[in-house]
Amino acid sequence: MTITTPEWERATAALRGDPMVVACHMDPDADTLGSGLALAEALRRARRASPQVVVGSPDGEAARLPRRLGQLPGAAQVADPASLRVPATLVVVDCSGPDRLGGLSWLVDQAAQVIWIDHHRDGGAPGDVRLVDPEAAATAELVAELVRRMGVRLDGAVATNLYAGLVTDTGRFGHGSTTPAALELGAELVAAGVDVVGLTRLLFAEQRFAELRLLGAVLAEARLDPRGLVWSVVDEAQLDEAGLAFGETDGLVDHLRTVSEAECALLLKRRRSGELKGSLRSISGVEVRSMAAALGGGGHDQAAGFSVTADLDDVVERIAQAVAAARAPVPEAAPAARR
Ligand code: MN
Repeated sequence: MTITTPEWERATAALRGDPMVVACHMDPDADTLGSGLALAEALRRARRASPQVVVGSPDGEAARLPRRLGQLPGAAQVADPASLRVPATLVVVDCSGPDRLGGLSWLVDQAAQVIWIDHHRDGGAPGDVRLVDPEAAATAELVAELVRRMGVRLDGAVATNLYAGLVTDTGRFGHGSTTPAALELGAELVAAGVDVVGLTRLLFAEQRFAELRLLGAVLAEARLDPRGLVWSVVDEAQLDEAGLAFGETDGLVDHLRTVSEAECALLLKRRRSGELKGSLRSISGVEVRSMAAALGGGGHDQAAGFSVTADLDDVVERIAQAVAAARAPVPEAAPAARR
């Protein structure tokens, strides 16, 4: 599914006028926040609007930004939801559905018009204008096209924020979402002056000692289920101690993802409320989105998530059974005559 020219034109025509709110998903990652900040900056430069950028949270209160993301250019402008006006235009970035805004989903009901920009396959995204393309490597890729169509240059804070989203969602240009278009956009942003070394260090390479110790704890807790699942669990208190926000654990699950005996990696984060938030990553190529969907979540074929209030052992068992069922059949041995 690709976005048609009339859809792009409807979106650029609709992106005008205040009050406007750009909404990013709960437990923000670099794609949602980078896309939101880049779009807001481009709209200001084009003198189309001065949007408030806001990040969803379970209770609709001000979300705590992950430390790394708080250093993206413009992140300091993220608005306190208490200061929000009912928007004439709401732009939702990188959300598969209104539930990803948590306590801020009222914005979707109350805004006069809603523009939905996303690359999740789940569909179900409402919106008067929908820019939804599951083939896009990142929502940042869609925002980049929108910025171009508004006649704004892809440089400065716009470029840095878009690169942050692109490089994160493609797994540093290593996941299956790494298309020629994604690499070409990366090249364009680097040519425009993005500080690749500084941004990579900020997003991936640098960590505080407490985070290193947390990684150790997650690895010590890791279990390998013979059905092809490597999994571990971390408590909210441990994340707090390491100064990590709930959405800031991609680095941890990426370590689980290196296990060659497993088809799929699962990191369970246990909130104080008892709710379990699961991050699923495919290792062998098995599709994990439907496993997350069976628990009320969603995402991408190779990376998905869910939130559920259930017993930890039950959740692990359900995922392990799904992995066993999804396992690619062993290919038949080549006929002897061909050897
Ligand atoms: Mn994304």
